[in-house]
Parts: sequence; structure tokens; C-alpha cells
Amino acid sequence: MNKGKYKVSYIDAGGCNGCYIEIVAALYSKYNPEEINVEMVDSAGQADILIITGPVNTRNKEDVLNDIKQAKEPKKIMVVGGGCGISEGIFKGSYNTRGPIDKLEKVDLYLPECPVKPQAVIEGLKTLVEELDEERNRK
Ligand code: SF4
Repeated sequence: MNKGKYKVSYIDAGGCNGCYIEIVAALYSKYNPEEINVEMVDSAGQADILIITGPVNTRNKEDVLNDIKQAKEPKKIMVVGGGCGISEGIFKGSYNTRGPIDKLEKVDLYLPECPVKPQAVIEGLKTLVEELDEERNRK
């Protein structure tokens, strides 16, 4: 059973914004995230679930890690994007790349499309909400 509404925050770790557009479409539109008990918030500090895109780079690495640290516990991390967040894509091997994110933090779910589809974002969030429900109901 759900124990309250889960908050979702987005972290841009240097993606191209292609996935971000689809994430916004999933969380603010006809896909009705309310039905799966999630809502978007601006601050990672309010979040139970973090959606991250991008390969992580020198400039944003500390900010990304600080945002992750601020999220509520237990938190879930979903990395979106086979073209950069998961594989580093065209950024792989760059002098400036510091990821991928799972080199720096534990990731709970990967969505590998480039760009992701809004339906996949909703399905991914459903999975993480179920996991959070289970973990919180155990307490
Ligand atoms: S996975 Fe592809 S579409 Fe998504 S942010 Fe990375 S490069 Fe852009």
C-alpha cells in the first residue's frame, strides 16, 4: 500500500535535453503521473526518486553528487538514456567525462532508449514506486 505521494526530481548531468523533453511529457501531461502516485518537484532535497540523464562531466560532477546526497532515504535512482547516461555515448573517452553515473552512485533502474519514451518513464517510475512501497511497508 502506498504511504503518501512520492516526489520525483530531475538531474541533468550533461545530456542533450532529448530525454528531458520526454521526461517532462511523461510527468506533466496526459500520462497522468498522479495515478501512479508520483509528482515532479524542483529540488532533489524533496525527492524520493531521482531521474538522471547525461554522462557526468568535470563541471557538473560535484553538483550532481550533492543533489543525490540531498535526496530522501531510502531513495531510488533511475538513469535515463542509452545514448549518454548509461553508456556515455559520444562523450565516452572525452577528457571531460567523469561518469557514467553508476561509477559514482548505485543505480536502481536503467532506461536505455535514446531518447527515452514517456511511456517507458512511467513504467520505470511504477517499478520504483512499488519498490519504495515495499521498503517502507517493511518498516
Ligand atoms: S540518451 Fe540520447 S536523447 Fe537522451 S539525453 Fe542522452 S544523447 Fe540526448
